[in-house]
Amino acid sequence: MPKSRHIPERSCVSCGAKMAKSQLVRIASKNGQAGITIDPTGMAPGRGAYLCRKPDCWDQSVGKRALARSLRRELTDQELEQVRAYYQENLAPNVTAT
Ligand SMILES: [Zn+2]
Repeated sequence: MPKSRHIPERSCVSCGAKMAKSQLVRIASKNGQAGITIDPTGMAPGRGAYLCRKPDCWDQSVGKRALARSLRRELTDQELEQVRAYYQENLAPNVTAT
């Protein structure tokens, strides 16, 4: 598929779906520093991993593996909780998850 216009595209680290950067949520991790930044604007420094908005891709176990691979380090439980909380607050359908 030829691209005539420059639309930055990224792949979801979990399912591999390619889409415009703006459709994905970036999770950034600075090298050698603890903590992650949920970075919807894509401006935070550091290595970034992108997740699409599918609930499956934010699932703890799936997300953990995908993010660890992309960020090249394991995520702490606290960081995973941060990711999960972001999803719940911003992307999840308004249903109580179990
Ligand atoms: Zn995905």
